[in-house]
Amino acid sequence: MNFGQLEGNEHLKKSLTELERAQRMPHAIIISSGSEQQRAELATHLAMWAVCSGGEKPCGKCKNCLNAEHRAHSDIYYAKGSGKTNIYNKDELKGMIRDASVKPNQADRKVYVLEECDRRLPVISQNTFLKTLEEPPQDVLFIMTCENSRSLLETIRSRAVEFALESDSRLDEEALGVAREIALGIVSPSEIDLLRATYLLNERALALEALDALTLLLRDGLSVYVGAKAELDSEIAEALCRKLTRSKFLNLIELTQNAQSKINANVSLKLISVWLCGQYRRNVWQK
Ligand SMILES: [Zn+2]
Repeated sequence: MNFGQLEGNEHLKKSLTELERAQRMPHAIIISSGSEQQRAELATHLAMWAVCSGGEKPCGKCKNCLNAEHRAHSDIYYAKGSGKTNIYNKDELKGMIRDASVKPNQADRKVYVLEECDRRLPVISQNTFLKTLEEPPQDVLFIMTCENSRSLLETIRSRAVEFALESDSRLDEEALGVAREIALGIVSPSEIDLLRATYLLNERALALEALDALTLLLRDGLSVYVGAKAELDSEIAEALCRKLTRSKFLNLIELTQNAQSKINANVSLKLISVWLCGQYRRNVWQK
């Protein structure tokens, strides 16, 4: 595969090149991480690849490539979205699915691009889309971009291949702050500290990221427990270690991941906060 102007991400480029060589390019791709602009660039690039009629694809010179590069190719459809937040609603998805069964106009393939799905593709539309991803029409490539693929339904993710861009943004400070509060709450003798901390999970994206950070803090604690070094925060790791055993660490990591699944399944954040607090307490303080 020809990557032209796309910089970095050598690992990802290697995977794509290998898949292309083996003629095993997936029919559905999720592009995650990186910046919104990087995701958009890679989506355009893969769309060019899919329609290119030149040699090493995308050649960047044929008519298909040039049109695709300007997002003006008749076989490449960028979902438009509607409403103030540009949501891809069920009707748009249904239209897209119908269109996908019609043969391409100029190229050998049709491409459908759904951008920023964590914000714009609601669960109801994801469900509309599921069956098509399961039994995709011939010669169609679906490309979804999102910051964090965990905000998509597991059933969508399992039917697509994910390519994560390198991310230079380190853990979000706010999310890490919330994760630290929860970690300290976990080992605090007073339940109210933990409840107060889990209540900080009051917004979806923040909650997912904070729980990611919390998983790292717990893994750190586990490292210290087995005599290795903490990578993220040695003070918190040691505080956790004083209270937790190996099996408790593992239970807490699993609970944290369960909470993330609940968030993805659109369970109310308030309910999740209370549930998580109760579960953490039970695990840590039981004999
Ligand atoms: Zn070309």
